[in-house]
Amino acid sequence: MDFAEVLTRIKEASPKHRLDIGDPDLPPPPELLEALRKEEDFRYGPAEGLLEFREAVASAFGVEPGEVVAVAGGRHGLAALMWVFRRRRLLTPTPYYPGYFDIAGIFELGLGLVETDGGWMPRFAERGVYVVNYPNNPTGVVLPREKVRELVDVAEFVISDEIYRDIVFDGFTSPMELSSSVAVVYSFSKVFSVPGLRIGAIIAPRDVAREVAKFNRATVNVPPTPTQRAVASVVDILPRRRAEVSEAYRRRAELAAGWLKLEFVRPGGAFYVFPLVADDVRCFEAALAAGVSLLPGSLYGDPRHVRLALVEDEERLKEAFTAVNAACGGPR
Ligand code: PMP
Repeated sequence: MDFAEVLTRIKEASPKHRLDIGDPDLPPPPELLEALRKEEDFRYGPAEGLLEFREAVASAFGVEPGEVVAVAGGRHGLAALMWVFRRRRLLTPTPYYPGYFDIAGIFELGLGLVETDGGWMPRFAERGVYVVNYPNNPTGVVLPREKVRELVDVAEFVISDEIYRDIVFDGFTSPMELSSSVAVVYSFSKVFSVPGLRIGAIIAPRDVAREVAKFNRATVNVPPTPTQRAVASVVDILPRRRAEVSEAYRRRAELAAGWLKLEFVRPGGAFYVFPLVADDVRCFEAALAAGVSLLPGSLYGDPRHVRLALVEDEERLKEAFTAVNAACGGPR
């Protein structure tokens, strides 16, 4: 079953609990909604993004505005970077975010897989350009600092998908802290619960940043300017917002560990759990029949697991997990 088919099946079943796609349920910050309502300027802007947006993001990351490019969401930024490195050997750990293969597919790029151990830790040995994602979708794991060191030591360059960097339970090391051969893919979709706004940023060395702007020009031309202005005006709330959303999702992950009778590696961030099952498609079907949508692990390259997004409140999650236990538990 591919993604489109899975989503069609979910739509047809119209389950009570939607724990499939990662659409955050926490309300967006009121400051951002207020700033968006005030927007009246809908003109074009520069392909690299508005200076006020690039300055705001640069100050949050401790870099120069010339190292920041606005993009229309993280996925757009990932497409830009995979295009920039299209002539290099691209590698990504398994399980992987399926979007990497969507992008590799349309650009006809090879994407090599790096195996992981039982704790979802990859062994970085091969030279190449790595596309990594921590905190990870689908597993929620975060690499310890020594692993990040192993990565930057072996990588020719790192495309670091840090879409979940603001949802962290016990610390996070970005490869950017250990090497300058790194481009960070950042997005406001998850931290501000606004995936439909389509706004993110690439933080990269200037030469790479210039190539990303070139990709913008050829695709969206200008990332949405009213969104950039509104987001730029509230970037200063990020530390508080980060603490709030991290605490909410941390609690849910902890409750999942108590309520869900399936084994999973405890996440260090993001808002997913990726438990072990006998057969992912059978579990998907049984859970759907019991009123809960989740995603088969084979979409992430792993048919022995399923992904549940923790995007309902605690009471509803408890009810959903009880149904999943009955549908997917039992002998493996
Ligand atoms: N990378 C990962 C790992 C994701 O999970 C997602 C969204 N689910 C994205 C990138 C893209 O997010 P967006 O385009 O909304 O910023």
